[in-house]
Amino acid sequence: MRLVLIGAPGSGKGTQAKFLIEKYNIPQISTGDLLRAAVAAKTPLGRQAKAVMDAGQLVPNDIVIGMIRERIMRPDAENGFILDGYPRNLEQAEALDNLLTSLGRPIDAVLQINVDFDLLMQRMVGRLTCLSCGALFNSFTNPPAIDSQCDQCGGTLHHRSDDNEETIDRRLRVYETHAQHVSNYYSNKGNLHVIDGQGTVDDIKKRIKSALRGLRSSRIKLQPAPAQPAATPANAQPEVIRTQIAESLKPTPKRKKREAAAIKPEVKKRPKKAETAAKAKYLHQLKAMQDELKSVRKELTLLVRTEKKLTREVAKSEAELAKLTQQQAEL
Ligand code: AMP
Repeated sequence: MRLVLIGAPGSGKGTQAKFLIEKYNIPQISTGDLLRAAVAAKTPLGRQAKAVMDAGQLVPNDIVIGMIRERIMRPDAENGFILDGYPRNLEQAEALDNLLTSLGRPIDAVLQINVDFDLLMQRMVGRLTCLSCGALFNSFTNPPAIDSQCDQCGGTLHHRSDDNEETIDRRLRVYETHAQHVSNYYSNKGNLHVIDGQGTVDDIKKRIKSALRGLRSSRIKLQPAPAQPAATPANAQPEVIRTQIAESLKPTPKRKKREAAAIKPEVKKRPKKAETAAKAKYLHQLKAMQDELKSVRKELTLLVRTEKKLTREVAKSEAELAKLTQQQAEL
């Protein structure tokens, strides 16, 4: 199965990719992860990409396209893959199609996860990733039990350097510039599924599952062009013939409606910088209030425990007093 996940940064592509990996037994290919690995390894490409990534801009197409081509050609992607964070613009989408067409392995479905801007900002500002197991937390909505420590494996939690207000703002603006073109491109091809990305992780998972229900992976048969009789399979010009089109790819009225919705702007009208700053301030206040609530809850638990203990002791003393009073009366 060859799937493409598109959506704004922070829309939950990485989170949802995790269950798709298991469902289809295929690798997740995230250009963001590949680039971050190159930055960490300080390769020439990584050094080139770092400044662009820190600025929240897109790494040049030729670098990313070359990187994705090399990754897709690896044996573990033979039976499919989940692309996360690629394509980011029309040129990348077309380059991907050219590559997959030449391999006879077209995209089976494109899942576009839509989330409101307000929620995206909160998700990303608070996003924490475990460096050991990749588990995701959020300091506002899903905080770990112990600060900076993974609940699942005890690993260190990391906050991405580009998940700060200013860079997020730029990344979202960059996303908006290209998103509609990419969305329209796949909508016209008829393999776009628009998913409402709001709700719990499980809600969104269910929506994705239902969008993919009945979908079969399709292959394209490559044949040598008849005009070149002397050509050997190795140097033949491939003529592409679609041999199998999944039934579910045929546009149904429901699907057409969903795709029409995709034509609408994906991210709500962007607030101005002042509003973004106000939001950041609000998020910090919210975090402080949540911390305070946590400590008040802790104190309350302690007080309730003490109250219970004292009530037990009072009851015991009263019983003893009653016993003594009775003994006294008998004397
Ligand atoms: P992500 O983890 O997908 O949010 O990507 C982090 C950063 O890596 C982005 O802000 C870009 O600078 C860069 N990046 C990731 N994927 C691409 C892509 N397909 N094209 C260009 N730049 C990318």
